[in-house]
Amino acid sequence: MIPVESYRGRRVALFGLGGSGLATAKALVAGGADVTVWDDSASAIEKARAAGLHAADLRELDWKGVAALVLSPGVPLTHPEPHWSVKLAHAFAVPVIGDVDLFFRERARRAPDALVICITGTNGKSTTTALVAHLLAEAGFDVEMGGNIGTPVLELEPPAADAPRRVHVLECSSYQIDLAPTISPTIGIHLNLSPDHIDRHGTFDRYAAVKERMIAAAQIAIVGIDDPASEAIALRHAKTGGRTVTLSVVAKHGASLHVTGRAIVNNQGDTLADLTGIGALRGAHNGQNAAAAVAACLQLSVPRAVIQKGLSTFPGLAHRMEQVGRVGRALAINDSKATNADSTEKALLAFEQGLFWICGGKPKAGGIADLAPLFPRVAKAYLIGEAAEAFSETLGDTVPHMIAGTLDVAVNQAVADANHSEFNEPVILLSPSCASFDQFPNFEVRGRTFRDLVSALPDFRPL
Ligand code: ADP
Repeated sequence: MIPVESYRGRRVALFGLGGSGLATAKALVAGGADVTVWDDSASAIEKARAAGLHAADLRELDWKGVAALVLSPGVPLTHPEPHWSVKLAHAFAVPVIGDVDLFFRERARRAPDALVICITGTNGKSTTTALVAHLLAEAGFDVEMGGNIGTPVLELEPPAADAPRRVHVLECSSYQIDLAPTISPTIGIHLNLSPDHIDRHGTFDRYAAVKERMIAAAQIAIVGIDDPASEAIALRHAKTGGRTVTLSVVAKHGASLHVTGRAIVNNQGDTLADLTGIGALRGAHNGQNAAAAVAACLQLSVPRAVIQKGLSTFPGLAHRMEQVGRVGRALAINDSKATNADSTEKALLAFEQGLFWICGGKPKAGGIADLAPLFPRVAKAYLIGEAAEAFSETLGDTVPHMIAGTLDVAVNQAVADANHSEFNEPVILLSPSCASFDQFPNFEVRGRTFRDLVSALPDFRPL
C-alpha cells in the first residue's frame, strides 16, 4: 500500500466505494488524513464501515476547509452531468481528484525521479500494460503494475528513492486521467483514439483532450499515429520540444517505428523485434501494442535480445485472443472480451482461413454487418444467445452457420466440425461481438465457461 501523506491532518471527502475507492480511502487514512467516505449504495457503505472507515452522507458535510473530493473514476465528473458530490465540491471550490493523482503527489514527495510508465488509448491498454510489465520484469526491473488493470494504484508498493530498479506500469483510463491534474509519467504511451465513452466526456474533442493531458505531461511520449486525432497529439508534443516516439502499423510516413508484417522496424530499416510465431500477439492490433511496449523498453535501455525473448514468453491476457489449447487438430481461442464488431474484426483479421466462429449474446447496435468483408475466412459460424436469429440473417447464404443457442452446444459442434474439416490448423474462436448479459453475468464468466468446456474434452491438450 502507498500511504498518502500529502493530506496528513487535512479533511478529505471520498465518493465511490468500489474496489479502488476502498483502497484509496485506506491509503489516505494510513497517511493521516481525516477522511469521510460515501456512496450511493447502502451495501458499499456497510462494507466501508466494516473496514473501519468513517462513512457519512457528504450532503451533510461541512465542506468549508475540505482539501479535496476524491472521486472514483466510475462516477460522472462532467457528463451526462456532474455527480451531486462533484456539484457540492464545485460550490465550495474544492478540487476534485482521483487515485492516480494521489499516486503522483506521493511520487513527487517521495521520489520525483522514480520511473512511471502510463498507458492509455481507446483500445489495447490492458494488453500493452501487461506486455510492458512482462518485458520489464524479464529485464530485471522491479515492476509494480496496476491502475485500471488488476491492482488499484494505491495498493502497489510506493515509488522510492532507494529502489532505483522499481518501475510503476499503470494503465490509465480517460476517467482516471480526467481526475489526475498532476499526472506526469516518465513515459506516456498513447495507442489510438476512436469514438468511445462520449457519453461521459461530452464530445470526441473533449475525450481526446483528456487523453492528451497525459501525453503532454510525459517526459517521453510514445504515440500511435494511425488515427488523425492521435497523430495531432504526437505532433503537438513534438512541437513543444517533448521527446516523442511515433508508431504506425499502416506504413504512415514519418513514424519512428513501423510494424511491417510481423516485424517492428525503426526508421533506419533495422528490425528491432519480430512477432512471427508469437501466439499471444497475433493480429495487426497487437503489432501496435507490441511496438509501443518495445519502444518503452528501448527508452529504458533494455537490450534487444532481452526484449525479443520477453515477447516470445508473453502469456497474453485472459479473454483477449487467449490461446486455450488444442482439441485434436483445432486451436481454441477465447476472445470473450470482444463485445462488439470492432473487436471481433481484430480477431477475424488474425486468421486467414479455417475459422469455426462462435458468436452471439446480447446484440449491440449494427450487429455483425460490418464484418461482411471478413466472412470468407469463416468456415462455419455457431450462433448463441439473443442475437442468434439476427446474426443468422446477416450471415444469410454466404456463411454456413447453425443456431446453437448455448455455448456448450456451440463448442461441441464446432470441435466436431473443425476436426472433420480440410484445414491443417482449424481455429475454434469464441469472439461474440455481443455483450454477455443475456446468458452470463459478464464477459469473464463467459470466457471461463468456454475455457472449461474446451478443456474438459477428451482430446484437449494445453499449449
Ligand atoms: P483495453 O484495455 O483498452 O480495453 P485490451 O488490451 O483489453 O484493451 O483489448 C481489448 C480488445 O481491443 C481486444 O480484444 C482487441 O479486440 C482490441 N484491441 C486490442 N489492442 C488494440 C489496438 N492496438 N488497436 C485496436 N484494437 C485493439
